[in-house]
Amino acid sequence: MSKNQEFVKFDKVDKSYDGKVLVVKDLNLDIAEGEFITMLGPSGSGKTTCLMMLAGFETPTNGEIYLDANPISNIPPHKRGIGMVFQNYALFPHMTVYENLAFPLKVRKISKEDIDKKVDKALSMVSLSGFENRMPAQLSGGQQQRVAVARALVFDPTVVLMDEPLGALDKNLRESMQYEIKHIHENIGVTVVYVTHDQSEALTMSNRIAVFNDGKVQQLSSPDKLYEEPVNSFVAEFIGENNTFGGEIIDLSNGTCKVQLSHGEIFANPISVKSKGDKTTVSIRPERALINPENKMDNNHSGTIEEVIYHGDHTRVRLNILGNSEFILKVPNSSKNLDIKLGNKINIGWNSQDARALDPK
Ligand code: ADP
Ligand code: MG
Repeated sequence: MSKNQEFVKFDKVDKSYDGKVLVVKDLNLDIAEGEFITMLGPSGSGKTTCLMMLAGFETPTNGEIYLDANPISNIPPHKRGIGMVFQNYALFPHMTVYENLAFPLKVRKISKEDIDKKVDKALSMVSLSGFENRMPAQLSGGQQQRVAVARALVFDPTVVLMDEPLGALDKNLRESMQYEIKHIHENIGVTVVYVTHDQSEALTMSNRIAVFNDGKVQQLSSPDKLYEEPVNSFVAEFIGENNTFGGEIIDLSNGTCKVQLSHGEIFANPISVKSKGDKTTVSIRPERALINPENKMDNNHSGTIEEVIYHGDHTRVRLNILGNSEFILKVPNSSKNLDIKLGNKINIGWNSQDARALDPK
């Protein structure tokens, strides 16, 4: 049976808290059954508001949200079958792990025998079998968050919402929990809507990512597309590292454009420019620019090395090139014989297809 591609549907959803400012603007978003989708964006971009509307704690100002084809505006939160994990959604401190997990089942009037089975299963999913009688205070931060994940899954929800669930954990634990949550999702196939402001977390975990800014979805894509093919300057800047040149289109033909910079000219891929005279910011990922390229590329320029930073597996080189003194190259440390020294002049090249002419910043 094919999966429902519109399992969750935001249809023309606006949200205003004060009746004046829209913090979510005309949101149209379809989430497939079993998908892991992430809402990624800076603080204040409207991500939590979207989750709250889906959970039923906030009401859309305009538009409707559908769950499995049913409008959910009039369904109260506890009848939506949605599990939730929040950064500050603490466990009940006075209850044991077992009691925390049993709670959402008791509310749903499940029999004691089934509660025991479901609690067992949920704890084993997060590798915490045997922790039933611990109090939350007797668990580490990571273990507490795993119990919170188990509690969100224990009643077999149709959708699980997670709002910055790993935000309070330190870096190593956060990274291992990212894989753990990803694997749980792969094993049980529940639909997950995840919120984070951390782009690497989003890239690691998600099937698709909706990049939010200012209450609007800027781009909805798979992680690789988002990184390789950003559709505007905000996304190019927010995801990964990005070199930019500001300029004006002086020629546009056959899928390539020529851009006049303050110091020189480059060829680029016309993504959001239409005609001569358009202003643009050209975006190039650091690894797309090569030092002394063996094969001829259609952009070849020389620059001066202004900074060299050793990073273990690669070296970051900051160049002054075409009037941009912030141009970053990433040179794999396996590549030998490159004359990477402060003050040296080097030749670099890139393909115009990898230089995306986007909206001006
Ligand atoms: P994010 O989760 O992306 O950080 P939020 O959805 O929390 O963004 O907030 C979006 C905007 O809505 C912000 O400007 C925030 O100040 C405002 N906002 C969020 N919750 C409320 C609320 N309960 N009452 C009034 N304004 C709110
Ligand atoms: Mg938030």
